[in-house]
Amino acid sequence: MIAYLERFIHENDSESRPTDDEKDQLPNIRHSLDLQGTIDCVNTGLAGKDFGGLYTCEPLALIKPASPDDVARVVEAAYRSPNLTVAARGNGHSINGQAMSDGGLVMDMRSTEGNHFEVVRMNGETFVDVSGGALWEDVLKRCVSEYKLAPRSWTDYLGLTVGGTLSNAGVSGQAFRFGPQTCNVAELDVVTGKGELVTCNENENSELFFGALGGLGQFGIVTRARVVVQSAPDMVRWIRVVYAEFEDFTRCAEWLVTRPEGESFDYVEGFVFVNSVDDPANGWPTVPLHPDQGFDPSRIPRTAGSVLYCLEVALHYQKTDHPSTVDKAVNSLLGRLGFIEDMKFQVDVSYVEFLLRVKHVEESATANGTWDAPHPWLNMFVSKRDIADFDRVVFKRMLKNGVGGPMLVYPLLRSKWDSRTSVALPADGEIFYLVALLGFTMPYPNAPSAEKLVSQNKEIVQFCVNKGFDFKLYLPHYQSEEEWRRHFGSQWSRFDERKTRFDPLAILAPGQKIFKRRVSHL
Ligand code: FAD
Repeated sequence: MIAYLERFIHENDSESRPTDDEKDQLPNIRHSLDLQGTIDCVNTGLAGKDFGGLYTCEPLALIKPASPDDVARVVEAAYRSPNLTVAARGNGHSINGQAMSDGGLVMDMRSTEGNHFEVVRMNGETFVDVSGGALWEDVLKRCVSEYKLAPRSWTDYLGLTVGGTLSNAGVSGQAFRFGPQTCNVAELDVVTGKGELVTCNENENSELFFGALGGLGQFGIVTRARVVVQSAPDMVRWIRVVYAEFEDFTRCAEWLVTRPEGESFDYVEGFVFVNSVDDPANGWPTVPLHPDQGFDPSRIPRTAGSVLYCLEVALHYQKTDHPSTVDKAVNSLLGRLGFIEDMKFQVDVSYVEFLLRVKHVEESATANGTWDAPHPWLNMFVSKRDIADFDRVVFKRMLKNGVGGPMLVYPLLRSKWDSRTSVALPADGEIFYLVALLGFTMPYPNAPSAEKLVSQNKEIVQFCVNKGFDFKLYLPHYQSEEEWRRHFGSQWSRFDERKTRFDPLAILAPGQKIFKRRVSHL
Protein backbone atom coordinates (compact mmCIF):
# COMPACT_ATOMS: atom_id res chain seq x y z
CA MET A 1 0.00 0.00 0.00
CA ILE A 2 2.80 2.39 0.88
CA ALA A 3 4.43 1.70 -2.46
CA TYR A 4 1.11 2.49 -4.06
CA LEU A 5 0.93 5.89 -2.35
CA GLU A 6 4.56 6.60 -3.13
CA ARG A 7 3.94 6.36 -6.86
CA PHE A 8 1.86 9.49 -6.69
CA ILE A 9 3.91 11.87 -4.65
CA HIS A 10 7.05 13.52 -5.87
CA GLU A 11 7.71 16.75 -4.02
CA ASN A 12 4.66 18.63 -5.29
CA ASP A 13 6.09 18.38 -8.76
CA SER A 14 3.19 19.04 -11.12
CA GLU A 15 4.64 16.84 -13.88
CA SER A 16 4.66 13.87 -11.56
CA ARG A 17 1.11 14.45 -10.34
CA PRO A 18 -1.18 11.47 -10.88
CA THR A 19 -2.89 11.13 -14.22
CA ASP A 20 -6.66 10.82 -14.31
CA ASP A 21 -6.34 7.06 -14.86
CA GLU A 22 -4.10 6.73 -11.87
CA LYS A 23 -6.45 8.84 -9.79
CA ASP A 24 -9.30 6.54 -10.71
CA GLN A 25 -7.41 3.72 -9.07
CA LEU A 26 -6.63 5.59 -5.90
CA PRO A 27 -9.74 4.42 -4.06
CA ASN A 28 -7.95 1.07 -3.88
CA ILE A 29 -5.93 2.67 -1.11
CA ARG A 30 -9.06 2.55 0.92
CA HIS A 31 -8.97 -1.23 0.81
CA SER A 32 -5.30 -1.43 1.69
CA LEU A 33 -5.83 1.00 4.57
CA ASP A 34 -8.96 -0.81 5.67
CA LEU A 35 -10.76 2.48 6.25
CA GLN A 36 -14.38 2.66 7.28
CA GLY A 37 -14.55 6.06 5.59
CA THR A 38 -14.00 7.06 1.95
CA ILE A 39 -11.19 8.27 -0.29
CA ASP A 40 -11.98 10.32 -3.35
CA CYS A 41 -9.41 11.71 -5.72
CA VAL A 42 -11.82 12.88 -8.39
CA ASN A 43 -14.27 15.07 -6.51
CA THR A 44 -11.71 16.94 -4.44
CA GLY A 45 -13.06 20.43 -5.19
CA LEU A 46 -14.04 21.16 -1.59
CA ALA A 47 -10.53 20.44 -0.36
CA GLY A 48 -8.86 22.87 -2.74
CA LYS A 49 -10.83 25.95 -1.62
CA ASP A 50 -11.57 27.88 1.53
CA PHE A 51 -13.69 30.76 2.81
CA GLY A 52 -10.95 33.28 1.99
CA GLY A 53 -11.29 32.47 -1.71
CA LEU A 54 -7.77 33.81 -2.34
CA TYR A 55 -5.94 30.50 -2.79
CA THR A 56 -6.75 27.25 -4.53
CA CYS A 57 -4.77 24.07 -4.81
CA GLU A 58 -5.12 20.54 -6.06
CA PRO A 59 -4.94 17.85 -3.41
CA LEU A 60 -4.23 14.24 -4.28
CA ALA A 61 -7.29 12.96 -2.47
CA LEU A 62 -10.11 13.97 -0.18
CA ILE A 63 -10.61 11.51 2.65
CA LYS A 64 -13.72 11.35 4.76
CA PRO A 65 -12.66 9.41 7.84
CA ALA A 66 -15.34 7.61 9.80
CA SER A 67 -13.48 7.32 13.09
CA PRO A 68 -10.32 8.38 14.99
CA ASP A 69 -8.86 5.03 13.88
CA ASP A 70 -9.33 6.05 10.25
CA VAL A 71 -7.56 9.35 10.94
CA ALA A 72 -4.68 7.48 12.59
CA ARG A 73 -4.35 5.00 9.71
CA VAL A 74 -4.17 7.73 7.10
CA VAL A 75 -1.55 9.73 9.01
CA GLU A 76 0.46 6.59 9.67
CA ALA A 77 0.39 5.77 5.95
CA ALA A 78 1.64 9.27 5.16
CA TYR A 79 4.33 8.85 7.82
CA ARG A 80 5.55 5.73 6.09
CA SER A 81 5.54 7.36 2.66
CA PRO A 82 8.49 9.45 1.46
CA ASN A 83 6.70 12.77 1.14
CA LEU A 84 2.92 12.66 1.60
CA THR A 85 1.33 15.43 3.67
CA VAL A 86 -2.03 15.47 5.46
CA ALA A 87 -4.26 18.47 6.12
CA ALA A 88 -7.16 18.15 8.52
CA ARG A 89 -9.97 20.28 7.16
CA GLY A 90 -12.50 21.58 9.65
CA ASN A 91 -15.13 23.60 7.83
CA GLY A 92 -12.59 25.26 5.53
CA HIS A 93 -13.20 28.71 7.04
CA SER A 94 -9.57 29.68 6.86
CA ILE A 95 -8.64 32.67 4.72
CA ASN A 96 -5.22 31.79 3.36
CA GLY A 97 -5.23 28.09 2.48
CA GLN A 98 -4.31 26.90 5.99
CA ALA A 99 -6.47 23.77 5.69
CA MET A 100 -5.15 22.78 2.25
CA SER A 101 -2.54 20.29 1.10
CA ASP A 102 -1.17 20.84 -2.39
CA GLY A 103 -0.70 17.38 -3.87
CA GLY A 104 -1.38 15.73 -0.51
CA LEU A 105 -4.23 14.24 1.44
CA VAL A 106 -7.02 16.37 2.87
CA MET A 107 -9.06 14.88 5.67
CA ASP A 108 -12.58 16.26 5.92
CA MET A 109 -13.10 16.14 9.67
CA ARG A 110 -16.81 16.99 9.35
CA SER A 111 -17.39 13.32 8.51
CA THR A 112 -16.45 12.47 12.11
CA GLU A 113 -18.75 15.04 13.69
CA GLY A 114 -21.17 12.51 15.17
CA ASN A 115 -18.51 10.32 16.82
CA HIS A 116 -18.58 11.87 20.26
CA PHE A 117 -21.20 13.62 22.32
CA GLU A 118 -21.29 12.93 26.01
CA VAL A 119 -21.73 15.07 29.09
CA VAL A 120 -19.08 14.23 31.69
CA ARG A 121 -19.14 15.28 35.36
CA MET A 122 -15.80 15.21 37.14
CA ASN A 123 -14.54 16.77 40.39
CA GLY A 124 -17.54 19.08 40.62
CA GLU A 125 -17.11 20.39 37.06
CA THR A 126 -19.15 19.58 33.97
CA PHE A 127 -17.76 19.00 30.49
CA VAL A 128 -19.00 17.85 27.13
CA ASP A 129 -16.96 15.47 25.01
CA VAL A 130 -17.33 16.42 21.35
CA SER A 131 -15.71 15.41 18.06
CA GLY A 132 -12.92 17.55 16.59
CA GLY A 133 -15.00 17.74 13.42
CA ALA A 134 -18.21 18.90 15.14
CA LEU A 135 -19.56 22.36 14.33
CA TRP A 136 -19.87 24.63 17.36
CA GLU A 137 -23.37 25.42 16.19
CA ASP A 138 -24.37 21.77 16.66
CA VAL A 139 -22.57 21.55 20.00
CA LEU A 140 -24.58 24.56 21.19
CA LYS A 141 -27.93 23.24 20.01
CA ARG A 142 -27.45 19.79 21.56
CA CYS A 143 -26.02 21.05 24.84
CA VAL A 144 -28.84 23.54 25.33
CA SER A 145 -31.76 21.44 24.15
CA GLU A 146 -30.73 18.18 25.84
CA TYR A 147 -28.99 19.41 29.01
CA LYS A 148 -29.57 23.17 29.32
CA LEU A 149 -25.80 23.48 29.38
CA ALA A 150 -23.46 25.45 27.12
CA PRO A 151 -19.75 26.02 26.58
CA ARG A 152 -18.60 29.30 28.18
CA SER A 153 -16.36 30.71 25.47
CA TRP A 154 -17.43 31.12 21.87
CA THR A 155 -16.58 32.52 18.48
CA ASP A 156 -18.92 35.09 16.90
CA TYR A 157 -19.86 32.69 14.14
CA LEU A 158 -20.52 29.04 14.96
CA GLY A 159 -20.22 27.37 11.54
CA LEU A 160 -16.65 26.50 12.57
CA THR A 161 -15.34 23.19 13.87
CA VAL A 162 -14.12 22.41 17.35
CA GLY A 163 -10.72 21.24 16.03
CA GLY A 164 -10.41 24.25 13.72
CA THR A 165 -10.93 26.94 16.37
CA LEU A 166 -8.92 25.05 19.02
CA SER A 167 -6.02 25.03 16.56
CA ASN A 168 -6.13 28.84 16.57
CA ALA A 169 -7.63 30.21 19.81
CA GLY A 170 -11.40 30.80 19.43
CA VAL A 171 -12.19 34.34 20.52
CA SER A 172 -15.40 36.26 21.12
CA GLY A 173 -17.02 38.60 23.63
CA GLN A 174 -16.85 36.05 26.47
CA ALA A 175 -13.05 35.64 26.26
CA PHE A 176 -12.40 38.60 28.58
CA ARG A 177 -13.89 36.50 31.38
CA PHE A 178 -13.20 32.87 30.48
CA GLY A 179 -10.27 33.18 28.11
CA PRO A 180 -10.34 31.87 24.54
CA GLN A 181 -11.78 28.46 23.68
CA THR A 182 -8.25 27.00 23.97
CA CYS A 183 -8.46 27.74 27.72
CA ASN A 184 -11.82 26.04 28.15
CA VAL A 185 -10.79 22.50 27.28
CA ALA A 186 -9.77 19.83 29.79
CA GLU A 187 -8.70 16.99 27.52
CA LEU A 188 -8.05 16.12 23.90
CA ASP A 189 -7.65 12.98 21.81
CA VAL A 190 -5.04 13.77 19.19
CA VAL A 191 -3.58 11.79 16.28
CA THR A 192 0.07 12.82 16.13
CA GLY A 193 2.15 13.10 12.97
CA LYS A 194 3.31 9.53 13.55
CA GLY A 195 -0.24 8.25 13.38
CA GLU A 196 -0.54 7.58 17.13
CA LEU A 197 -3.87 8.29 18.81
CA VAL A 198 -3.03 9.90 22.16
CA THR A 199 -5.24 11.15 25.00
CA CYS A 200 -3.74 14.25 26.55
CA ASN A 201 -4.57 16.75 29.27
CA GLU A 202 -2.82 19.02 31.74
CA ASN A 203 -1.25 16.07 33.57
CA GLU A 204 -1.00 13.34 30.95
CA ASN A 205 0.98 14.04 27.74
CA SER A 206 0.74 17.70 28.67
CA GLU A 207 3.24 18.91 26.02
CA LEU A 208 0.99 17.53 23.30
CA PHE A 209 -2.12 18.95 24.99
CA PHE A 210 -0.80 22.50 25.27
CA GLY A 211 1.02 22.26 21.96
CA ALA A 212 -2.13 21.30 20.06
CA LEU A 213 -4.13 24.18 21.61
CA GLY A 214 -3.45 27.10 19.30
CA GLY A 215 -0.93 24.88 17.50
CA LEU A 216 -2.18 25.64 13.97
CA GLY A 217 -2.68 21.91 13.41
CA GLN A 218 1.09 21.30 13.58
CA PHE A 219 1.28 18.65 16.28
CA GLY A 220 -1.75 16.48 15.74
CA ILE A 221 -5.29 16.11 14.54
CA VAL A 222 -7.87 16.65 17.28
CA THR A 223 -10.48 13.90 17.17
CA ARG A 224 -12.13 14.60 20.55
CA ALA A 225 -12.22 17.59 22.87
CA ARG A 226 -13.54 17.75 26.43
CA VAL A 227 -15.03 21.24 26.64
CA VAL A 228 -15.96 23.04 29.89
CA VAL A 229 -19.68 23.82 30.05
CA GLN A 230 -21.90 25.84 32.35
CA SER A 231 -25.61 26.21 32.93
CA ALA A 232 -27.14 27.96 29.89
CA PRO A 233 -29.17 31.14 30.39
CA ASP A 234 -32.55 31.39 28.63
CA MET A 235 -32.24 34.95 27.42
CA VAL A 236 -29.84 37.71 26.55
CA ARG A 237 -30.27 41.47 26.57
CA TRP A 238 -28.13 42.55 23.64
CA ILE A 239 -27.11 46.22 23.62
CA ARG A 240 -25.12 48.60 21.42
CA VAL A 241 -24.02 52.08 22.45
CA VAL A 242 -22.16 54.59 20.30
CA TYR A 243 -19.08 56.72 20.98
CA ALA A 244 -17.55 59.56 19.00
CA GLU A 245 -14.12 59.35 20.65
CA PHE A 246 -11.90 56.28 20.69
CA GLU A 247 -10.56 57.23 24.10
CA ASP A 248 -14.05 57.13 25.65
CA PHE A 249 -14.84 53.86 23.91
CA THR A 250 -11.65 52.12 25.12
CA ARG A 251 -11.99 53.49 28.66
CA CYS A 252 -15.51 52.06 28.99
CA ALA A 253 -14.64 48.75 27.30
CA GLU A 254 -11.58 48.30 29.52
CA TRP A 255 -13.60 49.17 32.62
CA LEU A 256 -16.15 46.48 31.74
CA VAL A 257 -13.61 43.74 30.99
CA THR A 258 -11.69 44.32 34.22
CA ARG A 259 -14.76 44.21 36.53
CA PRO A 260 -15.24 41.07 38.63
CA GLU A 261 -17.72 38.41 37.50
CA GLY A 262 -21.27 39.40 38.43
CA GLU A 263 -20.42 43.11 38.22
CA SER A 264 -20.18 43.45 34.45
CA PHE A 265 -21.84 42.24 31.27
CA ASP A 266 -21.43 38.61 30.15
CA TYR A 267 -20.25 39.61 26.69
CA VAL A 268 -18.18 42.64 25.65
CA GLU A 269 -17.13 43.43 22.09
CA GLY A 270 -16.86 46.55 19.98
CA PHE A 271 -16.56 47.74 16.43
CA VAL A 272 -15.62 50.76 14.36
CA PHE A 273 -18.05 52.08 11.77
CA VAL A 274 -17.96 54.79 9.15
CA ASN A 275 -19.59 58.09 10.09
CA SER A 276 -21.86 58.06 7.05
CA VAL A 277 -25.32 56.95 6.02
CA ASP A 278 -24.17 55.93 2.55
CA ASP A 279 -22.21 52.80 3.35
CA PRO A 280 -24.53 49.80 3.88
CA ALA A 281 -21.62 47.58 4.98
CA ASN A 282 -19.81 49.96 7.31
CA GLY A 283 -21.99 53.02 7.96
CA TRP A 284 -24.78 54.07 10.34
CA PRO A 285 -27.25 51.40 9.12
CA THR A 286 -25.01 48.66 10.57
CA VAL A 287 -25.57 49.76 14.17
CA PRO A 288 -29.29 49.33 15.08
CA LEU A 289 -30.22 45.84 16.28
CA HIS A 290 -33.75 45.81 14.90
CA PRO A 291 -35.32 47.20 11.69
CA ASP A 292 -37.66 49.34 13.84
CA GLN A 293 -34.71 51.15 15.40
CA GLY A 294 -33.53 54.29 13.62
CA PHE A 295 -30.06 55.84 13.79
CA ASP A 296 -30.54 59.51 14.60
CA PRO A 297 -27.46 61.37 13.25
CA SER A 298 -28.47 64.62 14.97
CA ARG A 299 -27.13 63.01 18.16
CA ILE A 300 -23.59 62.73 16.80
CA PRO A 301 -21.37 65.55 18.13
CA ARG A 302 -20.10 67.97 15.47
CA THR A 303 -16.57 67.22 16.62
CA ALA A 304 -16.89 63.55 15.55
CA GLY A 305 -14.44 62.34 12.94
CA SER A 306 -14.53 59.99 9.96
CA VAL A 307 -15.36 56.95 12.07
CA LEU A 308 -17.45 56.21 15.17
CA TYR A 309 -17.21 53.40 17.72
CA CYS A 310 -19.82 50.99 18.96
CA LEU A 311 -19.55 49.07 22.20
CA GLU A 312 -21.56 45.85 22.02
CA VAL A 313 -22.49 44.15 25.28
CA ALA A 314 -24.90 41.49 26.49
CA LEU A 315 -26.33 40.36 29.80
CA HIS A 316 -27.59 36.81 30.37
CA TYR A 317 -30.78 36.18 32.30
CA GLN A 318 -33.42 33.54 32.94
CA LYS A 319 -37.05 33.75 31.86
CA THR A 320 -37.98 33.54 35.52
CA ASP A 321 -36.06 36.74 36.34
CA HIS A 322 -38.34 39.70 36.91
CA PRO A 323 -37.99 42.29 34.10
CA SER A 324 -37.24 45.02 36.64
CA THR A 325 -34.26 43.02 37.95
CA VAL A 326 -32.81 42.80 34.44
CA ASP A 327 -33.50 46.50 33.76
CA LYS A 328 -31.85 47.47 37.02
CA ALA A 329 -28.68 45.44 36.36
CA VAL A 330 -28.41 46.75 32.79
CA ASN A 331 -29.11 50.37 33.66
CA SER A 332 -26.69 50.37 36.53
CA LEU A 333 -23.88 49.27 34.20
CA LEU A 334 -24.93 51.50 31.30
CA GLY A 335 -25.13 54.43 33.70
CA ARG A 336 -21.35 54.13 34.18
CA LEU A 337 -20.63 54.28 30.44
CA GLY A 338 -20.22 57.71 28.83
CA PHE A 339 -21.65 56.96 25.39
CA ILE A 340 -23.44 59.51 23.17
CA GLU A 341 -26.78 60.30 24.79
CA ASP A 342 -29.70 58.30 23.38
CA MET A 343 -27.37 56.42 21.04
CA LYS A 344 -28.42 53.11 22.56
CA PHE A 345 -29.98 50.12 20.81
CA GLN A 346 -31.18 47.02 22.58
CA VAL A 347 -33.16 43.85 22.01
CA ASP A 348 -34.02 40.79 24.08
CA VAL A 349 -33.35 37.51 22.31
CA SER A 350 -32.97 33.89 23.34
CA TYR A 351 -29.46 32.80 24.26
CA VAL A 352 -29.27 30.45 21.27
CA GLU A 353 -30.51 33.16 18.92
CA PHE A 354 -27.85 35.52 20.26
CA LEU A 355 -25.06 32.99 19.72
CA LEU A 356 -26.35 32.24 16.23
CA ARG A 357 -26.58 35.94 15.31
CA VAL A 358 -24.00 35.71 12.50
CA LYS A 359 -25.99 32.92 10.87
CA HIS A 360 -28.44 35.58 9.65
CA VAL A 361 -25.52 37.40 8.04
CA GLU A 362 -24.47 34.14 6.41
CA GLU A 363 -27.96 33.56 5.06
CA SER A 364 -28.31 36.98 3.47
CA ALA A 365 -24.71 36.98 2.21
CA THR A 366 -25.27 33.55 0.66
CA ALA A 367 -28.38 34.90 -1.04
CA ASN A 368 -26.56 37.92 -2.54
CA GLY A 369 -23.42 35.95 -3.47
CA THR A 370 -21.00 37.66 -1.08
CA TRP A 371 -20.57 34.62 1.19
CA ASP A 372 -18.91 32.75 -1.66
CA ALA A 373 -16.89 35.72 -2.95
CA PRO A 374 -13.30 36.31 -1.68
CA HIS A 375 -12.77 37.47 1.92
CA PRO A 376 -9.34 39.06 2.37
CA TRP A 377 -9.59 39.25 6.16
CA LEU A 378 -6.96 40.49 8.56
CA ASN A 379 -7.02 39.56 12.26
CA MET A 380 -4.55 40.92 14.79
CA PHE A 381 -3.87 41.24 18.49
CA VAL A 382 -2.60 44.77 19.20
CA SER A 383 -1.20 45.76 22.57
CA LYS A 384 -3.07 48.43 24.58
CA ARG A 385 0.14 50.48 24.41
CA ASP A 386 -0.30 50.97 20.65
CA ILE A 387 -4.05 50.79 20.09
CA ALA A 388 -4.62 54.58 20.19
CA ASP A 389 -1.94 55.12 17.52
CA PHE A 390 -3.42 52.26 15.54
CA ASP A 391 -6.82 53.99 15.69
CA ARG A 392 -5.37 57.38 14.73
CA VAL A 393 -3.73 56.11 11.55
CA VAL A 394 -5.45 52.86 10.57
CA PHE A 395 -9.10 53.35 11.50
CA LYS A 396 -9.34 57.12 11.14
CA ARG A 397 -7.22 57.51 7.99
CA MET A 398 -6.49 54.30 6.11
CA LEU A 399 -9.91 52.73 6.76
CA LYS A 400 -12.03 55.86 6.90
CA ASN A 401 -14.18 54.38 4.14
CA GLY A 402 -14.44 50.97 5.81
CA VAL A 403 -13.47 47.57 4.45
CA GLY A 404 -16.83 46.42 3.11
CA GLY A 405 -17.57 44.48 6.30
CA PRO A 406 -17.22 44.55 10.08
CA MET A 407 -14.18 46.16 11.72
CA LEU A 408 -14.03 44.69 15.20
CA VAL A 409 -11.94 46.11 18.04
CA TYR A 410 -12.27 45.04 21.66
CA PRO A 411 -10.05 44.42 24.69
CA LEU A 412 -8.90 41.05 26.04
CA LEU A 413 -6.95 40.15 29.17
CA ARG A 414 -3.65 38.29 28.98
CA SER A 415 -4.16 36.69 32.40
CA LYS A 416 -7.08 34.69 30.92
CA TRP A 417 -4.76 33.06 28.32
CA ASP A 418 -2.66 30.06 29.28
CA SER A 419 0.93 30.72 28.20
CA ARG A 420 1.57 26.96 27.94
CA THR A 421 -0.58 26.81 24.78
CA SER A 422 0.94 27.57 21.37
CA VAL A 423 -0.95 30.84 20.78
CA ALA A 424 1.31 33.87 20.22
CA LEU A 425 0.26 37.13 21.92
CA PRO A 426 1.75 40.64 21.99
CA ALA A 427 4.77 40.84 24.28
CA ASP A 428 3.69 43.22 27.03
CA GLY A 429 0.85 44.33 29.25
CA GLU A 430 -2.33 42.79 30.64
CA ILE A 431 -4.70 44.34 28.06
CA PHE A 432 -4.47 43.82 24.33
CA TYR A 433 -7.06 44.36 21.59
CA LEU A 434 -8.49 42.00 19.05
CA VAL A 435 -8.67 43.82 15.70
CA ALA A 436 -10.59 42.03 12.95
CA LEU A 437 -10.97 43.61 9.51
CA LEU A 438 -13.61 41.42 7.91
CA GLY A 439 -14.02 42.75 4.37
CA PHE A 440 -16.56 41.27 1.99
CA THR A 441 -16.06 41.88 -1.70
CA MET A 442 -19.43 43.41 -2.52
CA PRO A 443 -21.29 43.61 -5.81
CA TYR A 444 -21.96 47.36 -5.66
CA PRO A 445 -20.13 50.36 -7.16
CA ASN A 446 -17.04 51.62 -5.29
CA ALA A 447 -16.92 48.49 -3.10
CA PRO A 448 -13.30 47.49 -2.51
CA SER A 449 -11.94 44.64 -4.64
CA ALA A 450 -10.17 41.58 -3.18
CA GLU A 451 -6.84 42.82 -4.56
CA LYS A 452 -7.32 46.23 -2.98
CA LEU A 453 -8.17 44.71 0.40
CA VAL A 454 -5.17 42.35 0.26
CA SER A 455 -2.79 45.21 -0.46
CA GLN A 456 -4.45 47.38 2.19
CA ASN A 457 -3.95 44.58 4.72
CA LYS A 458 -0.27 44.40 3.80
CA GLU A 459 0.02 48.16 4.21
CA ILE A 460 -1.57 47.98 7.67
CA VAL A 461 0.77 45.20 8.82
CA GLN A 462 3.76 47.06 7.39
CA PHE A 463 2.70 50.24 9.16
CA CYS A 464 2.56 48.34 12.48
CA VAL A 465 6.01 46.86 11.81
CA ASN A 466 7.51 50.24 10.86
CA LYS A 467 6.09 51.88 13.98
CA GLY A 468 7.44 49.08 16.18
CA PHE A 469 3.94 48.23 17.45
CA ASP A 470 3.61 45.33 19.87
CA PHE A 471 1.25 43.10 17.88
CA LYS A 472 0.72 39.58 16.53
CA LEU A 473 -1.34 38.33 13.64
CA TYR A 474 -4.26 36.18 14.82
CA LEU A 475 -5.04 33.32 12.38
CA PRO A 476 -1.52 34.10 11.13
CA HIS A 477 -0.29 33.39 7.64
CA TYR A 478 3.29 33.66 6.51
CA GLN A 479 5.23 32.15 3.66
CA SER A 480 8.68 31.48 5.11
CA GLU A 481 10.17 29.90 8.22
CA GLU A 482 11.95 33.18 8.91
CA GLU A 483 8.63 35.03 9.17
CA TRP A 484 7.21 32.28 11.39
CA ARG A 485 10.24 32.49 13.68
CA ARG A 486 9.59 36.20 14.04
CA HIS A 487 5.90 35.57 14.70
CA PHE A 488 6.60 33.13 17.55
CA GLY A 489 9.57 35.11 18.85
CA SER A 490 10.80 33.61 22.12
CA GLN A 491 8.22 30.78 21.75
CA TRP A 492 9.76 29.55 18.50
CA SER A 493 12.16 27.04 20.05
CA ARG A 494 9.33 25.44 22.05
CA PHE A 495 7.15 25.32 18.92
CA ASP A 496 9.98 23.81 16.89
CA GLU A 497 10.78 21.22 19.58
CA ARG A 498 7.13 20.21 19.80
CA LYS A 499 7.11 19.77 16.02
CA THR A 500 10.19 17.52 16.13
CA ARG A 501 8.59 15.47 18.86
CA PHE A 502 5.03 15.08 17.60
CA ASP A 503 5.30 15.46 13.82
CA PRO A 504 8.97 14.79 13.05
CA LEU A 505 8.44 14.46 9.30
CA ALA A 506 6.26 17.61 9.08
CA ILE A 507 3.30 15.77 7.61
CA LEU A 508 0.53 17.78 9.24
CA ALA A 509 -1.18 21.03 8.22
CA PRO A 510 1.19 21.88 5.34
CA GLY A 511 -1.11 24.76 4.30
CA GLN A 512 0.24 26.80 7.23
CA LYS A 513 3.62 26.84 5.41
CA ILE A 514 5.62 26.69 8.65
CA PHE A 515 7.69 23.54 8.10
CA LYS A 516 8.73 21.73 4.94
CA ARG A 517 7.92 18.02 4.66
CA ARG A 518 10.98 16.05 5.69
CA VAL A 519 11.99 12.96 3.74
CA SER A 520 11.26 9.66 5.41
CA HIS A 521 14.03 7.13 5.81
CA LEU A 522 11.66 4.46 7.03
P1 FAD B 1 -10.26 25.10 8.96
O1 FAD B 1 -10.20 26.42 8.32
O2 FAD B 1 -10.79 23.98 8.16
O3 FAD B 1 -8.82 24.70 9.55
C1 FAD B 1 -8.02 25.66 10.21
C2 FAD B 1 -6.68 25.03 10.60
O4 FAD B 1 -6.90 24.07 11.62
C3 FAD B 1 -6.00 24.29 9.46
O5 FAD B 1 -4.61 24.40 9.60
C4 FAD B 1 -6.43 22.86 9.66
O6 FAD B 1 -5.50 21.95 9.13
C5 FAD B 1 -6.49 22.78 11.18
N1 FAD B 1 -7.51 21.85 11.65
C6 FAD B 1 -8.80 21.76 11.27
N2 FAD B 1 -9.41 20.79 11.97
C7 FAD B 1 -8.48 20.27 12.80
C8 FAD B 1 -8.48 19.24 13.77
N3 FAD B 1 -9.58 18.54 14.04
N4 FAD B 1 -7.34 18.98 14.43
C9 FAD B 1 -6.21 19.68 14.19
N5 FAD B 1 -6.14 20.65 13.28
C10 FAD B 1 -7.27 20.95 12.60
N6 FAD B 1 -12.29 32.97 14.90
C11 FAD B 1 -12.39 33.40 16.16
O7 FAD B 1 -11.52 33.13 16.99
N7 FAD B 1 -13.47 34.14 16.57
C12 FAD B 1 -14.50 34.43 15.74
O8 FAD B 1 -15.44 35.08 16.15
C13 FAD B 1 -14.42 33.97 14.41
N8 FAD B 1 -15.43 34.21 13.54
C14 FAD B 1 -15.33 33.76 12.25
C15 FAD B 1 -16.38 34.03 11.37
C16 FAD B 1 -16.31 33.59 10.06
C17 FAD B 1 -17.46 33.86 9.14
C18 FAD B 1 -15.16 32.90 9.62
C19 FAD B 1 -15.05 32.46 8.21
C20 FAD B 1 -14.11 32.64 10.48
C21 FAD B 1 -14.19 33.07 11.81
N9 FAD B 1 -13.16 32.82 12.72
C22 FAD B 1 -13.27 33.24 14.01
C23 FAD B 1 -11.94 32.16 12.30
C24 FAD B 1 -11.94 30.68 12.59
O9 FAD B 1 -11.63 30.46 13.96
C25 FAD B 1 -10.89 30.00 11.74
O10 FAD B 1 -11.27 30.14 10.40
C26 FAD B 1 -10.66 28.56 12.07
O11 FAD B 1 -9.73 28.10 11.11
C27 FAD B 1 -11.86 27.65 12.14
O12 FAD B 1 -12.37 27.29 10.94
P2 FAD B 1 -12.59 25.75 10.50
O13 FAD B 1 -13.16 24.93 11.59
O14 FAD B 1 -13.32 25.86 9.24
O15 FAD B 1 -11.08 25.24 10.33
